[in-house]
Amino acid sequence: MLKVNSYIGGHLVQPSTGHYVDKIDPRTGEKMGEVANSGPQDVEFAIHNADQALPAWRNMRPSERGRILIELARVIRLSEDRLGALESAETGKPGREMATLMDLTAQYFEFYAGLVNVMDGEVINQGPDYHVYTRRDPFGVIGAILPWNAPLHQAARAIAPALATGNTVVAKPSEHTSASLVGLARIAVEEAGVPAGVFNVVVGKGSVIGPVMARHPLMRKISFTGGLTAGQELGRIAAERILPLTLELGGKSANIVFDDADLDAAAKGATTAFTWNSGQWCAAGTRLLVQESIHDRFVEKLLAEVAALRIGPQFDATSGPITTHAQFEKIQSYFQIAEREGLKPAIGGKVASGAQLGGGWYIEPTVYTGVTNDMTLAKEEIFGPIVCVIPFKDEADALRIANDSEFGLGAGIWSRDIGRVHRVAASLDAGRIVVNEYSGGFVQTPCGGFKQSGYGREQGIDALSHYTQLKSVIIRL
Ligand code: NAD
Repeated sequence: MLKVNSYIGGHLVQPSTGHYVDKIDPRTGEKMGEVANSGPQDVEFAIHNADQALPAWRNMRPSERGRILIELARVIRLSEDRLGALESAETGKPGREMATLMDLTAQYFEFYAGLVNVMDGEVINQGPDYHVYTRRDPFGVIGAILPWNAPLHQAARAIAPALATGNTVVAKPSEHTSASLVGLARIAVEEAGVPAGVFNVVVGKGSVIGPVMARHPLMRKISFTGGLTAGQELGRIAAERILPLTLELGGKSANIVFDDADLDAAAKGATTAFTWNSGQWCAAGTRLLVQESIHDRFVEKLLAEVAALRIGPQFDATSGPITTHAQFEKIQSYFQIAEREGLKPAIGGKVASGAQLGGGWYIEPTVYTGVTNDMTLAKEEIFGPIVCVIPFKDEADALRIANDSEFGLGAGIWSRDIGRVHRVAASLDAGRIVVNEYSGGFVQTPCGGFKQSGYGREQGIDALSHYTQLKSVIIRL
């Protein structure tokens, strides 16, 4: 039985409340452990530890911090099986996906550990009477509030640049998937040499401890990855405190298939776009815009790809269960909404059942055709394996539909016309455009949203500027 406690100041810490909540295995629907339900006192303790550890960590030479984080990356790779199995168990992700996700987790530490050596200010020439320069200072204690869909990957992309630039961290994983991040913090401190107190994890419900983190006077910045509602609540607190935020929120990304595309590749890619991680992917391509002239031919190929998916708990399944029961129920509610709005599934449309699925939370990958962009299914983020096929006439029509959304996280373009690709990419209101594949980009490519998908950027070199504050030094000689 899993028992998950916070990890603060280099020690496992039981919740001051004395309370735990059950952790249910999404693959079976049965209890698999208990997770600490921490309270404000635990947040206070973690922030105090992070603050105590700050002076030594921020004053360490960047090359020395980098060396420790490179060592952490090495230990992550050595612990790949153990940490990957933990994440797979608590999320329900098929085991085969963990090798890639663990590799990305390690890459974040490698990338930022190296980059911090070249992160510098600049000298600004003001003539012979002055020496003027800028420097990038850490914020201090940074909070990382994280979701459940790719726990270690999302944690590493926020924590690696925060630590590399000399901040200390209090991370709060989702209450549904906390064990793997506690495991990561432990190997950071106990095996890689990250000083105790530099990387802390508080485990508990976000609605209770998230606002406490944001209100704490020693909390200097929060990087939040999650849904719009919690992001808005943090935004209100941040407005009162003038607390800098990075907000990585949800999406309703358009994936546009033009009539000159390689339709076989597009059908495969469009299937992955909405079914990877059972659709629990912020940038999932859930509005599939298909040019009218190839619509029927393309949909036939798409349905064949979807029919070939293997859903289940097995290591090599194409997708696993939905990670939380609330999300499992939320997705099902969209089947009723679809029906009310006159839509019929071309495939899927119900809970997946079968001998090996037992009491697990599995949803059939579902395709709705004939959807218009004003329908609820095309407007709201579902965070499940449901795609809306929306026909369009021409390039202008595709752009109009794609940009007619409150969200702007990702987008896909399928076309062999290079001119069209650049024109459309330039006009799409989205933070990341992927062409002729549908993927999550690289550690080195910035990630973040337009409109209600958030602000600030994770990943890439640009993230360094989101974890530091610029200072000018003006010296009269
Ligand atoms: P969520 O907003 O429910 O929870 C995210 C985190 O916030 C959790 O740790 C949760 O405990 C905490 N939290 C909840 N209420 C809070 C509050 N009032 N104050 C502070 N923290 C609070 O999101 P989720 O269900 O865990 O994740 C799914 C959402 O995350 C989707 O909307 C998805 O699109 C988004 N997401 C975005 C990205 C991105 O990079 N843009 C990546 C992954 C997930």
